[in-house]
Amino acid sequence: MDHTPADWQNAEPLVDRAAPMIDPFGRAVTYLRVSVTDRCDFRCTYCMAENMTFLPKKDLLTLEELDRLCSAFIAKGVRKLRLTGGEPLVRKNIMHLVRGLSRHIGSGLDELTLTTNGSQLARNAAELADCGVRRINVSIDTLDPVKFKTITRWGELDKVMDGIRAAQAAGIHVKLNAVALKDFNEHEIPELMRFAHGEGMDLTLIETMPMGETDEDRTDQYLPLSLVRQRLEEQFTLDDIPYRTGGPARYVEVRETGGRLGFITPLTHNFCESCNRVRLTCTGTLYMCLGQDDAADLRTALRASDDDAYLSAAIDEAISRKPKGHDFIIDRNHRKPAVARHMSVTGG
Ligand code: SAM
Ligand code: SF4
Repeated sequence: MDHTPADWQNAEPLVDRAAPMIDPFGRAVTYLRVSVTDRCDFRCTYCMAENMTFLPKKDLLTLEELDRLCSAFIAKGVRKLRLTGGEPLVRKNIMHLVRGLSRHIGSGLDELTLTTNGSQLARNAAELADCGVRRINVSIDTLDPVKFKTITRWGELDKVMDGIRAAQAAGIHVKLNAVALKDFNEHEIPELMRFAHGEGMDLTLIETMPMGETDEDRTDQYLPLSLVRQRLEEQFTLDDIPYRTGGPARYVEVRETGGRLGFITPLTHNFCESCNRVRLTCTGTLYMCLGQDDAADLRTALRASDDDAYLSAAIDEAISRKPKGHDFIIDRNHRKPAVARHMSVTGG
């Protein structure tokens, strides 16, 4: 931990616990992303090394503690909550947490959602829908089963496809996420888009972000989405639209397919000015920015007292340190990640 706040220890109980969280730059924090585990049943080459050392299980917050923390954020104005990871659906008994958090939908929380690799979705989709999950993101970087195995190292495309179908059958709106990777899927993006749009799904493309050591050289994988867009425009008509999902994606509507395509471009276009989110890890560390190392230890505050006032004060202290933006750059000389922790720790 880089920084352990102490201010909450002397905090007076808050009178107005529902006061919105406003950061030093006037941005309201209304979106919490929670990495419920750093573990995963895949080893995507841009995300993890093959032999990852995961956090010791004893350091993890219990599901009850995660519920209490999330509920504290909802009481303080969070309206959208996304469970992610690692792979959220590999955390044992994760559906207990989903079921518990679903009580807030419609009373404080507008949306409970998750980002998943889809491997465990087929058996969980119906229950997710029953818990009020209306939209999910599924990550899929290629439609070729052999390439899928190559990029995920351990994944099976068939299972993910079954998961997508099960989610759709349960009435959940699925959005696909694909990381744009040079020499890997750069020429497959039109096909991915036609597939997604043909099945009634939006597709969002993501630039690789330099987070954590992965065995791969990020400069070899990086593909600017400005180039992807330019190439797509040779075949398709892309109309910019103001559609937003509460995330950093900027959307276009593709005239030929009638579907939506999103671009998440942390490197070519900085999306920080409208950042409304913070990220919680499975050990209770709060990162106020995906691209910075500064963090707050909420686990200590959580365990110090049953009174949520202390937790609330610790959260306020953390929000007061939310930085203006990230400093992602691909370091071409040192070829080191800009942020040492992996995406699977903070959840993307
Ligand atoms: N396991 C789930 C999944 O793959 O959807 C959730 C966690 S994963 C870390 C969340 C998203 O981050 C995925 O869409 C993944 O492709 C993306 N991601 C992982 N590492 C990344 C990186 N270094 N740069 C950009 N996106 C990354
Ligand atoms: Fe796992 Fe998601 Fe990272 Fe792939 S991107 S290794 S599925 S956490």
